[in-house]
Amino acid sequence: MPLTYRDLKNRRYLEPTRNFAESVLNIKFLNGDRSYCPFHEDTKDSFRIYVNGKDEVRFHCFGECGKDWDIYDIIMLKDHCDFPQAQKKFAEYLGLRDVEFHRGRYQYHDERSIEQEEPIACVDDEDLTNEHRQVLQESAEFYNNLLLSRKEEFEKVIKYLKKRGVGEDTIRKYNIGFCPALKDEKYEGRALLNQYVDKFKDDLTLYQCFRRAGLFLLLDEDHIYYKQFIDHRPGNIFGHYADYFQNRITFPISNIEGQIEGIIGRRTDNRGLRWLKQNQEDTYIQSKGWLYGIDKAVRWIKHYQTVIIVEGIFDYFAFYNLSENKDHPIVVSTLGTRIDDTSIGLLTDLGVKHFIIAYDWDKAGRQGISTTAKKIADSKVSYLGSLKEDEDPADKLKGIITGISNFGIRHLQKGMHVKSRSGKPVMASFLVQRQKRNKIHHDEVLFKPTENLDKERLQSKPTDYWYLKSDVLPALTYDNRNRAALNHKINDIRSFLENPLKDPPPEQDQDDYFHLPSKFIEDEHYMNIGDSLILHLRLAIEQQTRERRIKESDSIIAEWMKTTRRTIRKYKNQLKEARLLDIRMKGIHQSMSVRYFVKNSTGIVMSKS
Ligand SMILES: [Zn+2]
Repeated sequence: MPLTYRDLKNRRYLEPTRNFAESVLNIKFLNGDRSYCPFHEDTKDSFRIYVNGKDEVRFHCFGECGKDWDIYDIIMLKDHCDFPQAQKKFAEYLGLRDVEFHRGRYQYHDERSIEQEEPIACVDDEDLTNEHRQVLQESAEFYNNLLLSRKEEFEKVIKYLKKRGVGEDTIRKYNIGFCPALKDEKYEGRALLNQYVDKFKDDLTLYQCFRRAGLFLLLDEDHIYYKQFIDHRPGNIFGHYADYFQNRITFPISNIEGQIEGIIGRRTDNRGLRWLKQNQEDTYIQSKGWLYGIDKAVRWIKHYQTVIIVEGIFDYFAFYNLSENKDHPIVVSTLGTRIDDTSIGLLTDLGVKHFIIAYDWDKAGRQGISTTAKKIADSKVSYLGSLKEDEDPADKLKGIITGISNFGIRHLQKGMHVKSRSGKPVMASFLVQRQKRNKIHHDEVLFKPTENLDKERLQSKPTDYWYLKSDVLPALTYDNRNRAALNHKINDIRSFLENPLKDPPPEQDQDDYFHLPSKFIEDEHYMNIGDSLILHLRLAIEQQTRERRIKESDSIIAEWMKTTRRTIRKYKNQLKEARLLDIRMKGIHQSMSVRYFVKNSTGIVMSKS
């Protein structure tokens, strides 16, 4: 029977394969098995020739490539040839005549042998496989055990977690762990690596699996900090690697089915990169769409049709601790201020009707709340009110000793669906008890509907809405036959105002348009000024057209608007009282300007209340 390419990969050919690589492919091996990788700019001899568990001779790059090859892959990559040519080159070198060449690797043999064959190069967009999940799970458990079995050693970590609302029970339940630092003399940042290193020596594919799961960090020789931790001892082929999460608390993240998807790490101090996901380029981890806690909450989110969405992990535990039903959590963390469409879809599919977005009260948080609210059009979205600037929910909820039930939250949220008589959005709050220096205080946890979000504070710069002047100017008169006709006209104008152009028109056309602050429209302040709205709009247009204050007398304005001086004076005074019009008198001459905002101590607010 002729030999096939598979036979030539056997360990019997280890020596000839190495010689072939050296003499034909110019890959020089030092110490017999290591070389500078021919496929990347290598300074650390990260390329290895080895024999795997199936007695096959293989090659591996521990460096940038992070890939595994057989001799044919190497020939094809080095000589830019195809698979049959690679087989011929190798067979000729070996001086073998009776070799059967194959067009491809998958065209013969039984199914089983096809499955054993690796594709030529690693497929980078491959999904996380069960093997990767398995090593992620093992690693998360390893760090969890390390933390819990060495409580004295990691006392600082335990204390830190406790301070942030994560006690030992929670550490156990959520599989939270700790990965010691590079500086740690005992573990040298390699607690996990050292645990597995003997297994890796026998099985580089297992190592590769850990690496693809993002669990190891390559210590860069050019990096001023990392290079001092490289272990140069001879024979230690993993000296350039350390645990990825060194010096961090580890939080495993699972998907809705409870399968582990990845880990995030948090430093206990606030220096450097505080949070870490396995986001190196060559890992299989997709951190997009992660919802921390979804595996534990899925059943209860369904049950209560309510979800609380927070931005940080410690915010997650703040709500978790506050909950009267700790075994029935309804909170998830988006691990940032963005919730992607897939996650919204997932929550909507679970039947969520009440979204509470409790992001931090800073610019990013407010923007996140606003963006999310826009995406979730059909459900009630509310946010945690009464947070101070830059405060996060974990701070706000700290010290609260009253539990809040999920049922109560849903009930409150339901109440918010009811329209108030004034048409204003309804808020809901829990009265809570808070312990402060041995004294019990009463406080409120306030949920506000997102309609209340102060849009002005969300945007760095207030925006304007634009309208075509010619569309509304003819309507801005007071020559109505009767009251009903006037009301009709005002309603027309209001619906006109509610359909603005949200982006500025091209500059050359802007003279045909007038603009109003979006806040004036969105917060419906224009609804409050009644009939004087007509005068207000007319004056606003005049002022913008001429780019200066209006100095016309009341009789001239009355003429424009087809009415009497008396009417103009009445509405002028109404606008002045509403602080939407600034009027200055100089002798008998007036000078008017339309305005929308006044400043007070809390920043810019609408003048009309
Ligand atoms: Zn390489």
